[in-house]
Amino acid sequence: MFTVISAARVYPPNEGTLLDTRTVPGELKWAASPTEGGWEEVSIMDEKNVPIRTYQVCNVMEPSQSNWLRTDWIPRSGAQRIYVEIKFTLRDCNSLPGVTGTCKETFNLYYYESNNDREHYIRESNFLKIDTVAADESFTQVDIGDRIMKLNTEVRDVKVTTRKGFYLAFQDVGACIALVSVRVFYKTCPLTVRNLATFPDTNTGADTSSLVEVRGSCVNQSEEREEPKMYCGADGEWLVPIGGCVCNLGYEEKSGVCQACTVGFNRAVSTDRACSKCPPHSHSEKEGATVCDCNPAYYRSESDPASMPCTQPPSAPQQLISEVNETSVVLEWSAPLRLGGRSDISYSVDCLLCHGGAQLCLPCSQDVLFSPQQSGLRATRVCMSELQAHTRYTFTILARNGVSQGHSAGAGQSVSVTLTTNQAAPSPVTSIQAGDVTRHGVSLAWQQPDRPNGVILEYEVKYYEKDQKESSYRIMKTASRSADITGLSPLTVYLFQVRARTAAGYGEFSGPVEFSTNSDPLPLIGDAANSTLLLLSISGGVILLLISTAVFIISRRRGKYSQAKQDSEEEKHLNPGVRIYVDPFTYEDPDQAVHEFAKEIDASYIHIEKVIGIGEFGEVCSGRLRLQGKREIFVAIKSLKAAYSNKQRQDFLSEASIMGQFDHPNIIRLEGVVTRCKPVMIITEYMENGSLDAFLRKHDGHFTVIQLVGKLRGIASGMKYLSDMSYVHRDLAARNILVNSNLVCKVSDFGLSRVLQEDPENAYTTREVTGTYHSPGGKIPIRWTSPEAIAYRKFTPSSDTWSYGVVMWEVMSYGERPYWDMSNQDVIKAIDEGYRLPPPMDCPVCLHQLMLDCWQTERTHRPSFTQILNMLDKLIRNPTTTLRTGGDRPVPSLLEPVVGPEFVSVWSAEDCLQAIGMGMYRDTLTTAGYTSPDSLLTLTHQDMTSIGIITPSHQDQILASVQQVLLSHMQQIQEQMPDSMVPV
Ligand code: AMP
Repeated sequence: MFTVISAARVYPPNEGTLLDTRTVPGELKWAASPTEGGWEEVSIMDEKNVPIRTYQVCNVMEPSQSNWLRTDWIPRSGAQRIYVEIKFTLRDCNSLPGVTGTCKETFNLYYYESNNDREHYIRESNFLKIDTVAADESFTQVDIGDRIMKLNTEVRDVKVTTRKGFYLAFQDVGACIALVSVRVFYKTCPLTVRNLATFPDTNTGADTSSLVEVRGSCVNQSEEREEPKMYCGADGEWLVPIGGCVCNLGYEEKSGVCQACTVGFNRAVSTDRACSKCPPHSHSEKEGATVCDCNPAYYRSESDPASMPCTQPPSAPQQLISEVNETSVVLEWSAPLRLGGRSDISYSVDCLLCHGGAQLCLPCSQDVLFSPQQSGLRATRVCMSELQAHTRYTFTILARNGVSQGHSAGAGQSVSVTLTTNQAAPSPVTSIQAGDVTRHGVSLAWQQPDRPNGVILEYEVKYYEKDQKESSYRIMKTASRSADITGLSPLTVYLFQVRARTAAGYGEFSGPVEFSTNSDPLPLIGDAANSTLLLLSISGGVILLLISTAVFIISRRRGKYSQAKQDSEEEKHLNPGVRIYVDPFTYEDPDQAVHEFAKEIDASYIHIEKVIGIGEFGEVCSGRLRLQGKREIFVAIKSLKAAYSNKQRQDFLSEASIMGQFDHPNIIRLEGVVTRCKPVMIITEYMENGSLDAFLRKHDGHFTVIQLVGKLRGIASGMKYLSDMSYVHRDLAARNILVNSNLVCKVSDFGLSRVLQEDPENAYTTREVTGTYHSPGGKIPIRWTSPEAIAYRKFTPSSDTWSYGVVMWEVMSYGERPYWDMSNQDVIKAIDEGYRLPPPMDCPVCLHQLMLDCWQTERTHRPSFTQILNMLDKLIRNPTTTLRTGGDRPVPSLLEPVVGPEFVSVWSAEDCLQAIGMGMYRDTLTTAGYTSPDSLLTLTHQDMTSIGIITPSHQDQILASVQQVLLSHMQQIQEQMPDSMVPV
């Protein structure tokens, strides 16, 4: 009996066992042939005392052995290639005593495929041979009694694909064999997960080289990324994995499975391998979150990646500053305090046009131009143009970002400003057409300008012969949109241009259109009578020419100022956009005038600090004004005392209606009015040094002549501006000039009423006289007023010139009272008799001469403010030759051109700009023709805006400081001169 060391019944994972004799309970009862004397079933005990079945045969002595042993039917269970592992012992023929040549040491292994699991008999010839099996070197030693046997293990394989199962057969041909165990198995590629795809347990292919392609299926909570495939190799190994799956969003791969993200984590994009913590301001409340929800009041835009923190709409833009330039508005602002955690901020502008004091606001028309655009603004600046003139607008700047849509709280993200555009001249007249054309006339008609920018007061038609120079034009004015031009020459081509005028001044002329008059029957040359006529007319023409030349020369001699005056008026008429002053009392409703020219200010923006004076209608205070979107400024606040009459209110506000029409560095600037609540107030710029007369008295003798002339120049410049606008001041006096901290003098006091409650200096008096002009209040400042204005109230720019002469005297005498303590009546009498004020102490002769020129009895002989300004400029340029006092050498008249070294050659415009910190505008100003320092003195706000110096503070700086710096430069020159003109 054999004792076999049985192996543990553990099969490799990639093998499927079809038969194992060791595990078969009971006997095998395989079919043996011959049934007797051949294979014999023998039960033996293995090492664990478990019985096992073996088959043995040992007919080594008999020749021609053919002993068959056939297994039961073995189902192949899908296997295509089966493996037969045979453990056997085989007696070495040599070890058998007395055997002859019949002893064999091999046996044969056969198989037969069949669907029949109960075949009784199978012909031996039907079996197919798998192999002849011999013992080889690989054996295990087995103790058999006192001998050691070698346990062989041989494995053979064969393809079984045709039937459901098969039978195996062992043919012994005369050996001494014991089949210790037979195991039949097939190989599989075991179930596996690769790249998140499950591959099932798969039988290997039929051939030893075959690869079985297997498609995997994605594990739970995953999806195919690329079709997962692998090949099952013949030896049960998985080969060449292709494709695979990825975990669904909200899940991550861990040890080959997809696990849900835990609370507070998410996996939102498939490219992320693992779950990640919720970004700031978001959360996830359940496992497996594909996205973290935003916390309340935080949002995500559609394009925001889920990995981005949740964000908020921005807060409102800050510090909105507006700048009105005629019908354009520039808005600038700063970025919001809170950007909401995003960088995609943009701004948009809402434009509302308001009627009736913001009660009724409607969206602006399509005509308004937004530069660079209305919405999607990245920069914090926008310019609106083509607005209606003198109209109230509300602009709202809205800040948005990617999460504003739908979440915007509206007001929280916006800032608004309400403002009124300035007056602007009308746009040019278009489509001029000729109706009736006759020999001597043309009827013209035209359309209203596209943008009238106000009520059109009149049209001006300019026309001239095409062949003549444009300078020989004629002008016709009309209130309607048509004009009958008469007095034209027959058969002549004329050019016509039309422009409109509103309260804001003239617009530009239209482009010239030409029309020809009809033919006129001309006298035939050669006709005797007509020749005489022709001769007569020629000689008559010559005489006419001579007469007019003579008249021209005489008038030039007689009125050296009047021609210049007309020139300037002509110039003014031809200069488009020159404004003409509008008398507020021509308005039926004076309140309308106030709101036409003055901005209504919300009283809450005004902070009153202290009382600085008493005006005609109440206290004058200083304080601060902070308009929405503007920097805080110091202001003077004139208030209307309580218990006023309607008339007083109108008179009080008329000053604002007048002042609001002016824009000049030497005219006090109106900031606005408060009329909608009490007290009614007029807000102007604050002039730190108060009125000029008091200021001079306080600083008696402190200034150089040049500094005093500088003050006079400023006043003259302001007065020139007023006279250019056809405004007659009527009360020009040092007490009505205000001085600011830069010592710039500005003309003020535009009140028409002269009803003074108290007049300590007895400056005004009443004279009951009639005339073309009349002072509404009837009171006249006698000492400052020209004789014709006192006598018959003829107030003209020339009467202002007279007053200017008196102001010159006041300035040069440091605030002395004109005519000292003479009575008004004595003053009138003295003037009438030809007496004039003498030069104040140390007053240069030329200045006194200029005063005397201003005090010419014949008003047309007085200089215009343009001339006065030119003279003072010359004087400032040539102080060495002009500023001599009475005791010095004879002086050239200021009215004559002065030759001498001009300080422009030693000091340039550039130096001047550098000195006031405005050097950056050197090129701008030079290109625009402002090359000399004195040319800078002529600059106005409008000039600067037109050449591109738009920053208001820079404009103010240039206007305020150029004059000062030039004067102090002159002073330095003077101080270096041996014969100093400075008063001691
Ligand atoms: P008025 O009613 O204009 O004559 O003003 C009365 C006084 O108030 C003047 O004499 C000045 O002293 C003072 N005052 C008026 N306006 C201003 C101003 N804009 N800045 C400083 N002081 C002013």
